[in-house]
Amino acid sequence: MSQHGFLKYDIDLRSDTVTTPTAEMRQAMVTAELGNDVFREDPTILSLETKMSTLLGKEKGLFVASGTMGNLLSIMVHCPGSDFDIIVGDKSHINKYEHAGATCVAGVLVKTVPNQSDGTINLEDIKMALNSGTEEHKTKTKMIGLENTHNMCGGVVLNPEYCRAVRQLIENQDIALHLDGARIFNAAVALSVPPSELAAPFDSVSVCLSKDLGAPVGSVLCGSSQFIEQARRLRKMLGGGWAQAGVLAACGLVALDGYETRIALDHNNATVFANKIKQIPGLSVDMSTVQTNITFFSVVNDKITAQQLVQKLSAKESGKSSVNVGVVAFGPTMIRAVFHPQISTQQVEMAAEKIAGIMSEF
Ligand SMILES: *Cc1c(COP(=O)(O)O)cnc(C)c1O
Repeated sequence: MSQHGFLKYDIDLRSDTVTTPTAEMRQAMVTAELGNDVFREDPTILSLETKMSTLLGKEKGLFVASGTMGNLLSIMVHCPGSDFDIIVGDKSHINKYEHAGATCVAGVLVKTVPNQSDGTINLEDIKMALNSGTEEHKTKTKMIGLENTHNMCGGVVLNPEYCRAVRQLIENQDIALHLDGARIFNAAVALSVPPSELAAPFDSVSVCLSKDLGAPVGSVLCGSSQFIEQARRLRKMLGGGWAQAGVLAACGLVALDGYETRIALDHNNATVFANKIKQIPGLSVDMSTVQTNITFFSVVNDKITAQQLVQKLSAKESGKSSVNVGVVAFGPTMIRAVFHPQISTQQVEMAAEKIAGIMSEF
């Protein structure tokens, strides 16, 4: 327990947002060249925006407070009116975890279609949900949103051909294609392709610096110059016009330096962990979903629920070890563990041992 009363974990696998800035990031914050970004005078932010848009093969970038803000701004720019809808997967972050910002703030109808286990949405389902705007009873579809990697499908990587097929499906229909690329760098590392190749079919891409890249705060939204100019105006409206935020952008620049090696280690840790978990009686893992830095596993023992296992893991003295481990339960049987730059391979072993010790009591 910290002095502030919240629980601290020796091994925190609840999310890749739990990382704190590295010594190198803290140093970069101290020495960052700063200016007022609302006047477009913060050199560190300008460097970060240029670096990210170059990596993604887009004209411009915009540093924003969060991935949620990046997605919301994209919806607002792509749907400039009150008579529009967007199509996203039912397991998408936009649908499940963004407090209906698309509806409440952007004023669009959000139409969800089923996500398949590989993170895709069937092309047929998209076709069925699409409205051309000619019918008087219906909103016009203005945006389709995909997610890569797909968090709630287990951090799975979207097939690049699939993304190109979606692009083709909506060609010349005045519909934008947006990518929630919170973890696009994980997808790029998993496929050994440049991130720009994965971003190519999309009009806009939002990338989180604060997930597996390991920075403390922020996302970068990328797209055409015109798109980013509009997003910039609306960012001010949302209260996201920040002054010397180069102190934060400095960490983003450090995070992008040599990300391939770091991210590959996290992918390896997720797989090592999954292989250990699947050998524990009472637990199971669908190895086909373990592609990046996320491992979902399920409890298949009637005597213990996912929630109870999570609870026991958070106690120092349980099972056969004295470390505590943070993971998150999703529903009665599923548990998610996320790997990030502040988890070592030794900690992966220790976490798996802790879990095995607890499960052996049931
Ligand atoms: C975390 C996440 C976001 C939102 O990022 P925040 O910075 O937490 O707002 C969006 N999409 C996906 C897939 C995410 O995992």
